[in-house]
Amino acid sequence: MATFFPTPYEGETFYSTISRYHIYSANLNSKDTLRDLFNTTSVTAGRELPANIDLLLKNIPNNHSFTTNDIIFNNTLYKYYTCFLTKEKADYIYNLMANGNGSLIFASLGMCGNKMKNDFSLKYCPECVKSDRSVFGEAFWHLNHQIPGIFICPNHMCKLYICKKSTEVKNRQEYLNLEFSIGNNDESIVGFNNMMIEHQERFIMNLNKIMNEKYQFKEMNFFREYYLKSLIEKGMAESRVKIYQQDLLRDFKGYYSEDYLSLLGCSFDLNDKYNWVTTITRKHRKSFHPIQHLLMIEYLNIDIDELFDSEYMEVRKDNKRSDKNDEEKKIFREKWLELRKKYPNKNISFVRKLDFSTYRWLNKYDRKWLTDNSPKKNGCMNSKRIDWQKRDEEILSKVRKAVKSIYNSKEKPERVTVGAVGRKIGKIYLLQKSLDKMPMTKEYLQKKCESVKQFQDRRVKWVRENVTINGESEWIVMRKAGIR
Ligand SMILES: [Zn+2]
Repeated sequence: MATFFPTPYEGETFYSTISRYHIYSANLNSKDTLRDLFNTTSVTAGRELPANIDLLLKNIPNNHSFTTNDIIFNNTLYKYYTCFLTKEKADYIYNLMANGNGSLIFASLGMCGNKMKNDFSLKYCPECVKSDRSVFGEAFWHLNHQIPGIFICPNHMCKLYICKKSTEVKNRQEYLNLEFSIGNNDESIVGFNNMMIEHQERFIMNLNKIMNEKYQFKEMNFFREYYLKSLIEKGMAESRVKIYQQDLLRDFKGYYSEDYLSLLGCSFDLNDKYNWVTTITRKHRKSFHPIQHLLMIEYLNIDIDELFDSEYMEVRKDNKRSDKNDEEKKIFREKWLELRKKYPNKNISFVRKLDFSTYRWLNKYDRKWLTDNSPKKNGCMNSKRIDWQKRDEEILSKVRKAVKSIYNSKEKPERVTVGAVGRKIGKIYLLQKSLDKMPMTKEYLQKKCESVKQFQDRRVKWVRENVTINGESEWIVMRKAGIR
């Protein structure tokens, strides 16, 4: 029995909470911590999908407000690993985590055959560590840093560091506390270029949805059918039996680059008949890794909300148009072209929503024509899909708060720059790269950012107001402000 237990921080892994208990309890041996919390020492320290959560809750004082369900959903990678699985499988994993045999969890995901390397090293962002220390007095392991496939911090957009100690520890029952585990020898991953950062941004955008939304589970092969539909739209397939595999594989590789695919453990050989890109587009009975699904989703420019909102729809065996008469065809074609003329700069999902029945008819009976007469999908950054006006408003309100807090801070002044504001709101990359797309934010920042001179004046004023010894000369004031 434990006499206390810390409350998990928002976005903390449950493993991390236990590692904080371990330090607070002053237990010298990890086995003592296991005995306190689980009444047994035959438990492994699950970093991603921990087990025996019910048991732990029984062994801590019941003055806490979290349940097994809260922990599984908010403090583990359960949602990440199960979102592309069937409900039955996801429920089974849930039960294993709550009160089942933890050693079965990874095998039950059904991903053993997919050649993905499991990497359980612990990762962290130096900026988050700094900010956690100042806010909470201690740093902890963040859930979204441990997600396989993520290499940059979703908040700060800087590279994550790999805790070297976590890759060396052989004892699988040890809970490493971040504060006692990170060190100067830790390194971030190497060879990261701008294109990879763009891919990571899209990856993170989709992951945030998976981790925050409540998506419905889908049946086996649901995703395959959806991908197939998109492949047909993209011209990479003609029907369910006719996929241009070689074109697809080459294009896929070209889109991501070999380096990026290798980094994610998803590289494949063009001559391998059973490579994962080919098998994920065929009827299958095995599960694929979430990284593989997310790569397909980005490559096919699929809107993840739309994907999870849609129903199972099997692509017809032959994709030939049926015997619909030409008159009908003419009407639908005209309707479609009219919409296209009215909204020449909108993408297909926008136009589709305006008149879904026309879209559905054409997609079913006149697909080739529809593809030829639809806006081309934007293959790289998903900029058309982003509602920039909305984003502008959201970012502006955050930027306002950040600027205010810099100006009102009682601490040593910090110069107001785009970079400083970006760091504060955790969107430095967005502000530096896409400010032109957010005119209101841009205008506001242009007004509020300080020149060196303005900043020096403010700094001098601050020193004057905050120097408590009377009678100081201006020279001292200037020197304290760091101005010659
Ligand atoms: Zn961070």
